[in-house]
Amino acid sequence: MASEKYAFQAEVSQVLRLVIHSLYSNKEIFLRELLSNASDALDRRRFLSIERPELLSDGDKPVIRLIPDKEAGTLTIWDNGLGMDEAELKESLGTVAFSGSRRFLENLKSNPGQAQDLPKLIGQFGVGFYSAYLVATEVTVTSRKAGSELAFRWQSSGEDGFTIEPSSRDSAGTSVTLKLADEQQEYLDPFRLKELVRRYSDYVPHPIELLSGPAETSGETVNHASALWQRSPKDVSNDDYVEFYKHLSRDWEPPLAWKHFHIEGTQMFSGLLFVPKRTPLDLFDPNPTHGVRLHVRRILVMENAEELVPRWLRFVKGVVDSEDLPLNVSRELLQDSRLVKVMRKQVISQTLELLKQVAKDRPDDYQAFFKSFGPVLKEGLHFDPDLKDELLPLLRFESAAQGKPVSLDEYVAAMPAEQKDIYYLMSTQKSAAQSPHLERARARGYDVLLLTDAVDPFAMESLEEYQEKKFVSVSSADLKLGDESEQKAAEAAEKPAIVQRSARVLESRVADVKPSSRLTDSPACLVIPEGALPPHLERLMRASGRELPPTRRVLELNLEHPLIQKVAELEAREPGSARVADWIELVYEQALLAEGSPPDDPAEFAKRLSRVMTAAATQELGAAAPSKA
Ligand code: ADP
Repeated sequence: MASEKYAFQAEVSQVLRLVIHSLYSNKEIFLRELLSNASDALDRRRFLSIERPELLSDGDKPVIRLIPDKEAGTLTIWDNGLGMDEAELKESLGTVAFSGSRRFLENLKSNPGQAQDLPKLIGQFGVGFYSAYLVATEVTVTSRKAGSELAFRWQSSGEDGFTIEPSSRDSAGTSVTLKLADEQQEYLDPFRLKELVRRYSDYVPHPIELLSGPAETSGETVNHASALWQRSPKDVSNDDYVEFYKHLSRDWEPPLAWKHFHIEGTQMFSGLLFVPKRTPLDLFDPNPTHGVRLHVRRILVMENAEELVPRWLRFVKGVVDSEDLPLNVSRELLQDSRLVKVMRKQVISQTLELLKQVAKDRPDDYQAFFKSFGPVLKEGLHFDPDLKDELLPLLRFESAAQGKPVSLDEYVAAMPAEQKDIYYLMSTQKSAAQSPHLERARARGYDVLLLTDAVDPFAMESLEEYQEKKFVSVSSADLKLGDESEQKAAEAAEKPAIVQRSARVLESRVADVKPSSRLTDSPACLVIPEGALPPHLERLMRASGRELPPTRRVLELNLEHPLIQKVAELEAREPGSARVADWIELVYEQALLAEGSPPDDPAEFAKRLSRVMTAAATQELGAAAPSKA
């Protein structure tokens, strides 16, 4: 019988090197990883047998066995799951699928604290199998794929590569045999093994039997062996929830919070949903993995059941188990099943309730959560506008006055008595807090919410009010902050000469020029006429290839600002002069710069700026020159 020798993919060698030479002290996690793989293989075999019943032909009940062999110094993890054929052994135990793996490994290598990062490595990569090398000097995997007579043996003692050769096995499934290192013999001790199963793997829904030696064929079941989500929440410990979450999500950290529920009525189902603490690498991946699993009467039928969870809750992990769906559910069936709609509604409301609870009881944790997942959650306003009332209180927005994120309730509570509306500024600028648009609101003691997320324009477009307070953009042309009579008088009055001159100079670029009532410190700003797109949205649409007619905006001049007053004086002295036109152009261009838009013609702008600066510098010198008597 020929034994073939293979090299590991470069990334695997690196992972192995890290694992083998790791100083990581918590080596016992290898058992959780291998039991988790065995459990997945049992689930997958049952899942595939729904369509191909012959895969379960040997009639054996799903089971995992732990077989310590004191004499040989080996520990075997045996399962009768799906098994692997020759090609799968080579692929699954010789490569890593994770696409960012090289970058991730480079990072890890240059990070001296890599010992603590090991669980992270294992979690993010899905390389749990290689954690066997934390305790073993040699690993042998014997596997027979369900539905096949052929078995193969994979063997490796680490970085050098692995061999595969034909072998035999009585039934389908996999055995992983670890030759334990001399100082790791504790993993032959039944008490130690029992303790580890209880601690890390109690959630495994299949029996884990502990055998006393290789001669035995059955042993004591050492885990709960029932689906954790089926139990009553009072019978599940926090540690159990955490370990189950780690198994589901491949996260190395405990979850932020979870919700366990049983629904009874016209439909029966259970659910266990988790919200992670950290942004997973695939949050913005179009095909994220490890989402919510769908089970039907305990049996896993779908890994990532998107139909159960809206995209704006794609960070949620967990399990939903239905008593009513047929076992052979297809994606098509899920899409238009009424049962699924009811479950989806529950998943949404349970998750939102959970978030509400966290926001109330653990505001700091919630703040951190929102930082990671807030932009995703906000998409819900756009995709499920009916849920506005539940979603809005969960959102946080940067407050210009407080310099930190606040809830709408906090914003409203802090409003001065005479403030009627909720003010916001949509901007992609880091410097949004410095925007000239905020000045008058600020002067009146009104806070402004700074909407700086890329999703904000889409999320907010359906929003009109919160608690009967209108959302009003401080950059819209019809913003009315002042006293109405004052405003009307200003509108009715004849426009000052500098405003009229500016309108003529900028005729082709702005829709109008008006005196401003919103500015206190800045000379000018550009505002959006009613119904027009905000500038960053316009940029975004242009960048994505949409042809848009140029939007002409309204230039507002702060007539009390010294710059505008001086330019007005100059215009009065030399009406219609080219010099004044230069100044007006610059006022307009700096308003563009202040909102993050480039000047229409940068080269022209630079020339103009030099011209005006030269004149100003000459003036300064003139003023500073000692008088020659
Ligand atoms: P992950 O489980 O995250 O994919 P692992 O390194 O633990 O990563 O395992 C790699 C792959 O090897 C698994 O995805 C699975 O296809 C296969 N595998 C590992 N253990 C078993 C097992 N006991 N039975 C069947 N397949 C297994």
